Amino acid sequence: MKMLSRSLPVLAIALSCLLRSTEAAPGLTPGSARSLTKRANTFVGCDDGQRKKAGQALADMANLAMWGYTEASTDKYGFKHYFRDDELDKFKKAMSIISQNNDPTNAPFNFILNCTPTGKELDLCKEKKGSYAITDATVPKNDQDLKSIWLCPLFFDKGTDTKNDLPKTDDADALKKWCDQKDYTLFPTAGHVLLHEITHLDAVAKRFLDADPKTKEHGTEDFAQGSRPIYDARRLKVLFDNEPNREDYPQPGFNAESYAGAATELWAQKFCKKDFIPPKNGYET
Ligand SMILES: [Zn+2]
Repeated sequence: MKMLSRSLPVLAIALSCLLRSTEAAPGLTPGSARSLTKRANTFVGCDDGQRKKAGQALADMANLAMWGYTEASTDKYGFKHYFRDDELDKFKKAMSIISQNNDPTNAPFNFILNCTPTGKELDLCKEKKGSYAITDATVPKNDQDLKSIWLCPLFFDKGTDTKNDLPKTDDADALKKWCDQKDYTLFPTAGHVLLHEITHLDAVAKRFLDADPKTKEHGTEDFAQGSRPIYDARRLKVLFDNEPNREDYPQPGFNAESYAGAATELWAQKFCKKDFIPPKNGYET
């Protein structure tokens, strides 16, 4: 097991942990994996309430990705806060692929959403201030080798960012309430968290990222400085604007939260009809 985060957040709840493990996912045998491959998103260990919450988060993830694809351009702050201009095609490709996952009959990739992490995954969920999710970023052995996103207890905690679902755009009151939030850190939703996580999956990331030459893995990494992940993603962009040749941090295109941050901000720009410039408390820690 190897954590890829360059530094673990200590001041805020970590959005996720990135798990790279050569061990099989607990409780998943090749036989059970085979029987599940016809379904895009297989829920494991979820009670009815968790299934409903995770299902809505998947729908919101696809919605964020669809609008991220449609709205992204190099003159929009929702894109520019997170990515360089030359990363537009990569971002749009990622959003296109992720948005297709709301159609279970024709999804371009498969994975497991596990609501009951145990053992080492549960330990990772609880490390430091805790994480919302843990994702297995190892390369699948074949198409039947589904990798897991474990949703941690915090994901279902009603006192965290993930309590929020995206407002319905035809519900003017709900949309206004969401758009009027004063603190930008309240904009992330459970769908935002899943969008972040899904870019860690090799089966997804290989559609828009080259493999790391050393590990042969494609999944994104986590750039974390101890602040809110969405602010760290903005900081990462500033870092590369100032020093494009640094190699001690991932480029924005390899950072999971950059994708989630841009998709959420582009969605908010579109439906709240406002730019978040300067980012509200954009770089505070
Ligand atoms: Zn992550």
